[in-house]
Amino acid sequence: MDPDEIIELEKKFIMQTYTRQPLVLSHGKGATVWDVEGKSYIDCFAGVAVNNVGHAHPKVALAICHQAQRLIHSSNIYYTGEQVELARLLTAISPHDRVFFANSGAEANEGAIKLARKFTGKSEIITAENSFHGRTLATVTATGQKKYSEPFKPLPEGFKHVPYGDITAMADAIGDDTAAIMLEPVQGEGGVIVPPPGYLRDVQELARQNDVLFILDEVQTGFGRTGAMFASELFNLQPDITTVAKGMGGGYPIGAVLANEDVASAFKPGDHGSTFGGNPLGCAAATATIEVLMDEKLPERAAELGAYFMEKLRQTLGGHDAVREIRGLGLMIGIELNTGCAGVVDGAREMGLLVNCTAERVVRLVPPLVIKKEEIDAAVDILANVISGL
Ligand SMILES: *Cc1c(COP(=O)(O)O)cnc(C)c1O
Repeated sequence: MDPDEIIELEKKFIMQTYTRQPLVLSHGKGATVWDVEGKSYIDCFAGVAVNNVGHAHPKVALAICHQAQRLIHSSNIYYTGEQVELARLLTAISPHDRVFFANSGAEANEGAIKLARKFTGKSEIITAENSFHGRTLATVTATGQKKYSEPFKPLPEGFKHVPYGDITAMADAIGDDTAAIMLEPVQGEGGVIVPPPGYLRDVQELARQNDVLFILDEVQTGFGRTGAMFASELFNLQPDITTVAKGMGGGYPIGAVLANEDVASAFKPGDHGSTFGGNPLGCAAATATIEVLMDEKLPERAAELGAYFMEKLRQTLGGHDAVREIRGLGLMIGIELNTGCAGVVDGAREMGLLVNCTAERVVRLVPPLVIKKEEIDAAVDILANVISGL
């Protein structure tokens, strides 16, 4: 099928929920992807911050192939070695003792919300304005952006939103029925918003004082993205629950709720479940992905290259009229413009660079953590070219 035919058939057969780029992808390697006509692109989008270990990593591909030939799925009615191996690894690299496996970020957050309510016997979940926590009914309600939830009323009860970064607003919002506070360590979809220094520690302290659980949504920030395996490490946090997904399986869909022993013990047999969650194929993919992250020191690489990327962007674009701010943490970078950034996405793509526009004005750069310096240099040149043309 040629690309025009694929695009035409998508419009005919697929529900039209996505605004897609006119690009039909074929394959990738590291931080490069190719379209079906053989044109290459530097990938600074990584499938929405998912392909942290790069495309077609041989170790991840091999782990998936081997596991697919043995046992793809078994359900949670039986034990598998792949699942406990991954769970042990996750507890070793995170500040948590126990794991529940889900298949996506939204599902992980659903699990966290249920766990917080079961453990505390309270219902209210406080989240931030401008946040993003997923597309299921509960997580879209938790998401502090009305455009995602308004059309789907009635929404589940028990969610309250406060401005991100405002500790006084958070303190005021906590009440007798508050079960948990749920925050992203850096807001992703909301436009790469890094919180003010001390904010997350203060929220954690506030939660402790009020017997409220502190849930960190590390679906986007986890697995090396911000320059540590988890952002909680960078901010010196000990959340009660952490949710993860995106980068976890190297592109294979898998997510998890991570919690401490006391909180986790509130879930009894039958309280929560998933048919696919933690199936052997997903666990093999995730174990291989995490081993690659550790072996290749990709969190450290994200810290170094993220600083390099941001510095180069500031040098070339910092004083430009169209640019309001360049910010980020590790390889999670946003260029906030004074205008909408859809044109930048198109211009960059035409010059061989994939980026994404979030929160209307923020060019989001979330490349694979294996991206090379030369690829960053080329990406900066293209962005400078396109943005100076605005
Ligand atoms: C992407 C994202 C989600 C939702 O993940 P899905 O896998 O799309 O359900 C939740 N929280 C954050 C912070 C995200 O970036």
